[in-house]
Amino acid sequence: MALFQDIQNEPEIQNWLKGYLALRITKDGLRGLVEGDSKNVQKNIHLSVIQARNLTAGTTCGLCLTENLFQCHTRGLCSHPRNCKYHNSPLKINRPCPSQICDDFRDEICAVHRYGGPSWKNTKANHWCTNHWQVAKCFMPPDGYDDVTSYDETDFNGIISVMINCMEFQRRFSFTIGIQPPNTLTEAREIGRKIRHSPDLKVTDTDLADYFATLNTLLTDSTFLANDKDAQQAVIKLKQLEKDSLSISTEDARELLEEARSTIEVGKRDVAESAESWKQELEGVVLQGKTDIDSGKCEIAESVKTGKQDLEVVVLQGKTAIESGKCEAAESVKTGKQELESVVAQGKTAIEFGKCEVAESVKTGKQDLEGVVLQGKTAIQSGKCEVAESVKTGKQQIEGVVSQGKSTIARLVTERVKEELEEALQGKNNVSSLSEAEQREGNWLKLEAQKKQK
Ligand SMILES: [Zn+2]
Ligand SMILES: [Zn+2]
Repeated sequence: MALFQDIQNEPEIQNWLKGYLALRITKDGLRGLVEGDSKNVQKNIHLSVIQARNLTAGTTCGLCLTENLFQCHTRGLCSHPRNCKYHNSPLKINRPCPSQICDDFRDEICAVHRYGGPSWKNTKANHWCTNHWQVAKCFMPPDGYDDVTSYDETDFNGIISVMINCMEFQRRFSFTIGIQPPNTLTEAREIGRKIRHSPDLKVTDTDLADYFATLNTLLTDSTFLANDKDAQQAVIKLKQLEKDSLSISTEDARELLEEARSTIEVGKRDVAESAESWKQELEGVVLQGKTDIDSGKCEIAESVKTGKQDLEVVVLQGKTAIESGKCEAAESVKTGKQELESVVAQGKTAIEFGKCEVAESVKTGKQDLEGVVLQGKTAIQSGKCEVAESVKTGKQQIEGVVSQGKSTIARLVTERVKEELEEALQGKNNVSSLSEAEQREGNWLKLEAQKKQK
């Protein structure tokens, strides 16, 4: 009663209560959308899993606990295998779903989670095939929703989280629910946090006006909610609340106050639990990190060792190769030397032989030349002799000819002279009787007669 009196007297506390009521009204306004689409998501995943495995329509599995679907250890879910409080019985060990459904179901939930990290701690996998809220709970914050089984039992924060984290809700909004806040949904979630965690249960007029504006924007979003019956009713109620025209009976107010007080307590506990949960998670991460580092160290050491051994082997191989190379090189050098020596020797022999041949050739050539010269000399000598002989013969012949000619000429000259003398003698005797011509004729006849007588 005292608290209620306080509310009546403190405007900022009244604002806080209005804010609290506004969240309750808004949650009612989102019922159609979130209940409807959560059912669709659950139904569609179930259907796609069955179709992908060619299972009979309507096949379900109620045998798999969430624990069975996860390895130990899974980060954010359970701790180290040795003292895991999650996989703490043989019934909870990781194993495949006997109906070939739940493992695929798990993967499909993961696939539509905006951040790829469903809250497995909240959910009971053995109800996935039949209960949409167990699927919806995967999209709520990781802590505080274990025992929640319906829309009504879920707080405003849980409802908003489903719409933010399950990507199937994007098509219901005109704005982008991206990885990067803010958007109308994240702003609405922030209002819920502020109300829940308010240390003095007070809200300023300005803040309250902002809250109403944001929640109204959400409930009148053009894509879906503007035309949704639940959302439309909520918008009307929010307007009445803002104008103080919403009639709340004293009894209702008492009930609200009680609810509000427990909300505050939950909020306080939330903070404490969150801190504890963060601590545990951090410890888990640190532990995992340590394990990873240790494992990494071992791996590095192993790698170094292996690398060293590999290197040693390589070095050894290299050495062997080098030694072998050396031997081969030495062998090659030796062989090469021998070959070269042989070549040189052959060359020498060839040169020597060549020299001999040349010398022989020169000798032969000289001899040949000497022979030729000798022959030439002989020929010349012979030619000289012949010429001399010819000259001698020619001289003799000429002398003979000349001598014959002399004798002939001498004889002819002698005979002629004789004849002429005889003629002259006869002529003297016949000159008186005969003409000169008759005398000459007569002389000629006489001569001829004399010749015939001889
Ligand atoms: Zn475990
Ligand atoms: Zn199963």
